[in-house]
Amino acid sequence: MVFGSLNIDYVMAVDHIIAPGETEKINRMQVFPGGKGLNQAAAIARAGFPVVMAGNVGKSDCRLLLDTMAGYGVDCSHVRKLQGLSGSAYIQVDPSAQNCILIASNANGKNTQASIEAVLSQFYAGDLLLLQNEVNLLDYIVCVAHQRGMRIYLNPSPYNEQLQKVPLELINGFIFNEVEGEQMTGEKTPAKILKAMRARFSHSELLLTLGAQGAILMRGSRKIRQPAYSVKPVDTTAAGDTFTGFYLAEIARRSTAQVALDRASKAAAIATTRHGAASSIPSIQEVLDSQLTYQD
Ligand code: ADP
Repeated sequence: MVFGSLNIDYVMAVDHIIAPGETEKINRMQVFPGGKGLNQAAAIARAGFPVVMAGNVGKSDCRLLLDTMAGYGVDCSHVRKLQGLSGSAYIQVDPSAQNCILIASNANGKNTQASIEAVLSQFYAGDLLLLQNEVNLLDYIVCVAHQRGMRIYLNPSPYNEQLQKVPLELINGFIFNEVEGEQMTGEKTPAKILKAMRARFSHSELLLTLGAQGAILMRGSRKIRQPAYSVKPVDTTAAGDTFTGFYLAEIARRSTAQVALDRASKAAAIATTRHGAASSIPSIQEVLDSQLTYQD
């Protein structure tokens, strides 16, 4: 299960990012499904493993989100349809690809203790739960899931003060990039980040992604390095979400760590060669058929 955000991304191509007091026209406007929860659930489904999405959408604009998820084969029977709007991101992009993003949580911020209990009561010991930090009451979700014996993976993104309230010692696995690693530990190099994370979380699995440098998995004191595959990236938007979804799908089907890392790395590399977020995620068949080689 992925319990997380579903967003509508309004992407606006502009001549320059707007300054206070200005009124500018938008050159081109596109609307995409997004949100880390939606992207990661889509990646698990594309990796060929059954996945249930939990979260909230707004009744007035949810069609795109629910149709997209259904198209990927994600089970949305636990997504609540609430009065009002779905989570939204307003993204200005200038000709040099600089961006500037406003986020409205809307339905993503409307979890209640009762709604969390109702969803998680349908899940049991050993079920895998994947979380990010784009919904409210994350601390409560973690506590209830832990009580039910679920195995909890967290992508601590975006890193903000809400995470400080979450009982992180209950997390079984962290999947995070260098920026989040630095925010969590204050350290800057991969080795120091992993050392600080291991000192704080002695039992958790740690998976640090390093962009074109690949990834490092740490189980206990054992480190497995996964190189990145060689590609010409055009848009790295959902690389991390693709990596996370493919890795967890393989963990769910009890593949070895090496197989899980390799497929995640290949899928994420392919995603960087395509524009868009969820739409750039390859299928498991494309990953298995691809002839990519490692970066030098
Ligand atoms: P995020 O998207 O969260 O910032 P990363 O940039 O660490 O995460 O990327 C996640 C994974 O995507 C990496 O571990 C790697 O496997 C793959 N990846 C990202 N950028 C590239 C790239 N330029 N070439 C090949 N693979 C990449």
